[in-house]
Amino acid sequence: MNSELDAAITRAAEIIISGNPIVAFTGAGISVESGIPDFRSPGGLWSKYEPSVYCNFQIFRKRPELFWEMATEMHATMKNARPNPAHFAMAELERLGLLSCIVTQNVDNLHQEAGSNLVYELHGNASKSTCIGCKQSFATNDLISELESNKDLKVPKCPTCHGVIKMNAVLFGEPLPRNVLENAMRAARETKVLLVVGTSLVVSPANSIVDLCKDNDGKVLICDPNPSNETLADVMLCGAAGMILPRLVNACSMLLRRGSIADL
Ligand SMILES: [Zn+2]
Repeated sequence: MNSELDAAITRAAEIIISGNPIVAFTGAGISVESGIPDFRSPGGLWSKYEPSVYCNFQIFRKRPELFWEMATEMHATMKNARPNPAHFAMAELERLGLLSCIVTQNVDNLHQEAGSNLVYELHGNASKSTCIGCKQSFATNDLISELESNKDLKVPKCPTCHGVIKMNAVLFGEPLPRNVLENAMRAARETKVLLVVGTSLVVSPANSIVDLCKDNDGKVLICDPNPSNETLADVMLCGAAGMILPRLVNACSMLLRRGSIADL
């Protein structure tokens, strides 16, 4: 047993119980244990498909076949991904009434699959796609199957208006969905506790989410195998989220059952 980690988990649970409902903020790191690889790692998808080209909104408007070529290959690595214990622990925090919402940079839909209800997806959701003409919605899985079974088809087209179909993930150069961003910012501003999992906090608006919480005297709990953001954390939970978050939920449940906590 790692007593330093145990102590950090207990401290984090006490902060959650005293400041709930909390807000969670998640990034790619939480889904690595679900089998979704880091596309930026050497040999990853981005070394084959330069994202500034293949995931560029302006280029998509002219040459959507480039995006769908990349998306078909990405889908092969993501289609078997299932929520891991970290996603289920987040859903359990919500069920216990300790978590109000999740703000995520992920587009993989795994929080919802694990049972979380209120999820603000800053970068959209790759499991659904929309016709840019008539706004009809499609399951991305069905579109990819269509592309895979018909090699002459390079871009899925809407059967109603023949418009180009675009995945509901935000591309480079495309604005973040404004309502989602506003709701996420408000949640970060109002929460007393922000639980950050699996994000490097480098990309905007990720860094502002943490700043908004801290500017309003909120506490920040960070769960990450890499302690690089330790200076931002009131409590650093260093390790794999799939191992730590279930233990954190257990610690919270115990405190709830006990009904009282030590003075913080
Ligand atoms: Zn259409």
